Amino acid sequence: MTHRYEALKKRESNARTYAATFESVFEYGNGARIWDSNGREIIDCLACAGALPLGHNHPEVRDAVISFLQSGHMLQALDLTTPAKSDFVDQLFALLPAEFAANAKIQFCSPSGSDAVEAAMKLTRIATGRHPIIAFHGAYHGMTSGALAAMGNLGPKTGLLSAASGIHFAPYPYSFRCPFGSDGSQTEELSINYLENLLNDPESGIPTPAAVIVEVVQGEGGCIPVSDAWLRALRWVTRDRNIPLIIDEVQSGFGRTGSMFAFERAGITPDVLVLSKALGGGFPLAVVVYNKQLDAWTRGMHAGTFRGNQIAMLSGRKTMEIITRDNLSQHAAQMGDVLMDGLREIANRFPVLGDLRGRGLMIGVEVIRPSDEVYPGPQDGDMARRIKMEAFANGLLLETGGRHGAVLRFLPPLIVTAADVGAILDRFEAAVAAAVH
Ligand code: PMP
Repeated sequence: MTHRYEALKKRESNARTYAATFESVFEYGNGARIWDSNGREIIDCLACAGALPLGHNHPEVRDAVISFLQSGHMLQALDLTTPAKSDFVDQLFALLPAEFAANAKIQFCSPSGSDAVEAAMKLTRIATGRHPIIAFHGAYHGMTSGALAAMGNLGPKTGLLSAASGIHFAPYPYSFRCPFGSDGSQTEELSINYLENLLNDPESGIPTPAAVIVEVVQGEGGCIPVSDAWLRALRWVTRDRNIPLIIDEVQSGFGRTGSMFAFERAGITPDVLVLSKALGGGFPLAVVVYNKQLDAWTRGMHAGTFRGNQIAMLSGRKTMEIITRDNLSQHAAQMGDVLMDGLREIANRFPVLGDLRGRGLMIGVEVIRPSDEVYPGPQDGDMARRIKMEAFANGLLLETGGRHGAVLRFLPPLIVTAADVGAILDRFEAAVAAAVH
């Protein structure tokens, strides 16, 4: 079977990500597990970067999709009104905080988080008549040119000079490596002060921005969460100046962080909310939900052919129903605690595991080179990759992220059980032990 792996490797672009290093052909998936063509079982601790909140092949979603396919309904409908679309919107709006939903409009996008981010940025620019957008260090908002511009990581932008236009960056609070050089306890306060100064100083070089865009938990940036207090302060700073706040919950939405949306816990609402990944329950779907006062679009101004995918709407609605019915946000919070406690114990035994952080089932472990001279020791991307490959050999699929690729990211499906978490921890510990020897 590995001939398939070799044959594809020759033909597939270098743009392929983590999977390029896994020399297996994957065939089946069930819940939190996948199987390769040799029958080897692997725990999927990535869940398609959070796009599979119910894991692989959830029976209720699968049955709903099969009966929809057999029903004769349209499968693609572009922007036509259909029962699947109307039911989907009702279900999504029922999950949003009531005061946000009451004044919100929804826009379907080409089915990727990147396109929805593009739409959000374009919308705020059109609505405010302003151009600059403030994003944060370490941010990941997508790979299309506009969304890429807002990415904190220079790597993917190299050679794309146009991708730098109109975006200004502010430091994101990161207590383990405070961007202001403090011991970490002041990182949040300093980051808000910095932002206020940027906005107040007439010589900061930044005219009033069209928007501030933020992830409540940076995902690709290394699973770095902000506190509720920081998010409230950001909301206050932006609202006070009439600057729309775009919250990108493409990765953190739909229960993953222990609440339906990560912003909710802070008791604030965004002006624009970007959703994708889990939104389609495993099928491609992306939307922007925004305050209707911002609705400055003219007809067809942000179009896209595949935004009317009816199967994705059906599976997304079904998935939202199950997340709510089975209280999976709360379950994610509980399983996240169990996973975090277990990781902490392992980290006590292995000094290369330098920092553990996250929220719910969105957890990052920063791998470092322990040092007597500096604290914390530098990020160790090579060791993180070694641990990732040892984990894969032990039947655990993890992905790296963050600066220098030094953060091992744990994003299992929300349906993991305590026994699954135990197996994840066992396989991870064995992987770390093998990698450090
Ligand atoms: N925003 C965030 C927070 C993301 O994590 C991602 C994808 N990792 C995107 C946007 C882009 O989504 P997509 O890959 O579907 O374009």
